[in-house]
Amino acid sequence: MSARLPELVEEALATGTLAGLPDKHFINGRSVSSSSGRAMDTFDPGSGRPFAHVAAGGAEDVEAAVAAAKAALATTWRQTTPAERGRFLYRAASLVREHADRLAVAECLDCGKPLGEAKGDVAGTARAFEYYAGACDKLQGETIPLGQDYLAYTLNEPVGVTAHITPWNFPISTLGRSVAPALAAGCTVVAKPAEQTPLTALMLADLLSEAGLPEGVFNVVTGTGPEAGAPLVAHRDVRHVTFTGSVATGTLVMQAAARNITRVTLELGGKSPVIVLSDSDMEQALAGVLGAIYENAGQICSAGSRLVIERAIHDKFLEELTRRTKELTLGHGLRDPNVGPVNSQAQLDKIVDYVEGAKARGIRVATGGARAADPQTGAGWFFEPTILDNVAADDVVIQEEIFGPVLAVQTIESIDEAIERANGTPFGLVAGIYTQDITKALRLARDIDAGQIYINEYFAGGIEVPFGGNKKSGFGREKGLEALRSYCKIKSVAAKI
Ligand code: ADP
Repeated sequence: MSARLPELVEEALATGTLAGLPDKHFINGRSVSSSSGRAMDTFDPGSGRPFAHVAAGGAEDVEAAVAAAKAALATTWRQTTPAERGRFLYRAASLVREHADRLAVAECLDCGKPLGEAKGDVAGTARAFEYYAGACDKLQGETIPLGQDYLAYTLNEPVGVTAHITPWNFPISTLGRSVAPALAAGCTVVAKPAEQTPLTALMLADLLSEAGLPEGVFNVVTGTGPEAGAPLVAHRDVRHVTFTGSVATGTLVMQAAARNITRVTLELGGKSPVIVLSDSDMEQALAGVLGAIYENAGQICSAGSRLVIERAIHDKFLEELTRRTKELTLGHGLRDPNVGPVNSQAQLDKIVDYVEGAKARGIRVATGGARAADPQTGAGWFFEPTILDNVAADDVVIQEEIFGPVLAVQTIESIDEAIERANGTPFGLVAGIYTQDITKALRLARDIDAGQIYINEYFAGGIEVPFGGNKKSGFGREKGLEALRSYCKIKSVAAKI
């Protein structure tokens, strides 16, 4: 029996790390060092110190991983029946649950997020494997009526070797949600986790191997974006890339994939509005807005980073929201505060620049607005939960993604103005709507250009609900049965009888 949560947390707090963390690539069923022999540190954002190291991969490691994935696709994985694939995925789900505590503590150290959130991410990852396990043997094609002299049908064939480039804000859950449908569809996988948070991808590789997945079906190469990510997305044998990250990097990924006519699913940034109308349930709306922007310290592509609120309730709502924001506890993720650190020094500097710029332009800071530290140690990369009030529609803190615990408030007079504000950025990922009036809610849902609409509960839904963006937030959908389409290619067969 492995150690349980309290012992793991104690070990991590006492030693600053966990014993036995993986530190090598996972290629063709084995842990291997980089061909260059190089390694890189990974940091604990709660202390700002390195706590583990992993292999720093490059083109040669990517080559080995893609070759392994290609060979497995043509041999073992192709011969595995859909029902057997489903059983592998069910076993993976149970193993993730069995090792949930260790995965959560590792995620918390690597990513910085509060332990409760990390536990939720791990539970969500197990759920993704379970959900897609049930889909493996239901990827049916169609028969197409051409009259009695023909038989025409379609097959959902696996697209081939798939690459999964994941970000540092939800390391295990973004990987799980894209790898599970890829495996369900019969594809093989090469994953490249973000260099800031490589550990849980490697831990997942060990668990998938324990679940009995044949060698080469799931591979992980760790390393930086330019050194390991770029050769992976440019590889001619990769037939689909699932990328979650910034718009700038997503553009590079799409360009590189275009050279091989490789398909892409891009889940990029957002600047999502939370619209609060004057008839909303205030308690529900306050809880929703707080969670939407302060969960994971605002480092969520679908964070509700803009509050779009009717003038009639602006003052009252802001007063209470500010009071509750001031009460939020900050601290090391392992102590499970309300808000943890941001992931890196670079990310912290970026947030500081945005907020200092807003102050210089005369924007009112209702609360927060400064760097902070772990109250227990004085260390770590923290930023105070912050509210910027009455911001103009064309201001950069409305138009650009900050990716931090910073809420920008926009005041509106009407539903039409709410729609205009909601649609008034380059992004289209999510919109939250708080109102008791079903007609208003459905009108907003109809007229807002976003991939997801949440009514009266921000982040409603789970792995069952398709997720993705419009405009600069990307395209393609993850989650739900919809995600399976990315990993299938349809073959039509028509025969003359
Ligand atoms: P951020 O700028 O916040 O670090 P990125 O979008 O650059 O976010 O990173 C998301 C993922 O993309 C990470 O796994 C990163 O290593 C990877 N990445 C970065 N640059 C490239 C690239 N040129 N090609 C492929 N992957 C990349």
